[in-house]
Amino acid sequence: MGYADLHIHSNYSLDGLHSISQILRHVAQLEHVNVIAITDHDVLRGSLECVERAPRFHIQAIPGMEITTADGHLLAYFIQRPIPAGRPLLETLARIGEQGGLAILPHPMRFWGSHRWPALREALNHPEGRAVLVGIEVIDAWGENRHGVRLAAHYGLACCGNSDAHVLEAIGQTCTQFPGEGAISLREALTQGQVRARLFSPPSLYDLALSYARTRRKIQKEPPTQPLADRL
Ligand SMILES: [Zn+2]
Ligand SMILES: [Zn+2]
Repeated sequence: MGYADLHIHSNYSLDGLHSISQILRHVAQLEHVNVIAITDHDVLRGSLECVERAPRFHIQAIPGMEITTADGHLLAYFIQRPIPAGRPLLETLARIGEQGGLAILPHPMRFWGSHRWPALREALNHPEGRAVLVGIEVIDAWGENRHGVRLAAHYGLACCGNSDAHVLEAIGQTCTQFPGEGAISLREALTQGQVRARLFSPPSLYDLALSYARTRRKIQKEPPTQPLADRL
């Protein structure tokens, strides 16, 4: 069995604190995680950097990003070019499909994901949308997501678990379990719905908030890294 954490933010995201190097070094020490994806908000560059550098750390990484669609957040994988933000969900799924990619719906109906139910229902009932949107997070950063569980059962979506990590400590605490070990097996398992969400004793929300605040303060005192500098 393999374990994948497919929802990790780096400092290419405005709210992610750690660099790709720091994330890879950390994941290399986690024994249970086989595959990761950096999924920054509307940015693919960090994820591509991660894919390129991961083999040196004996980690498999797949390319991904978290897209802010007009109808809420969407995770896209196995893409080579960035997908534009702000477009309707169904159109965004079609663009992911054009690149041979797959999508997972993150943290369904949580208030910060701002999902619009009519658009989501339209996408899930549309053959083109459904061919690309193969999975849904049933465990997210806040624990079990009952909307995700219900939608997965109703539409036959793959039941995924991801950390939505913004600090190192959260990475791998929630994973998607799949048969096999590598990215190819993972892709096959996602499309066939042969995955399940696994929660590995997560740190408390208080600990995560504390870690976020501490790291953020430390980073602000350090000279900016390349991606931070890019944003100035
Ligand atoms: Zn999100
Ligand atoms: Zn996220």
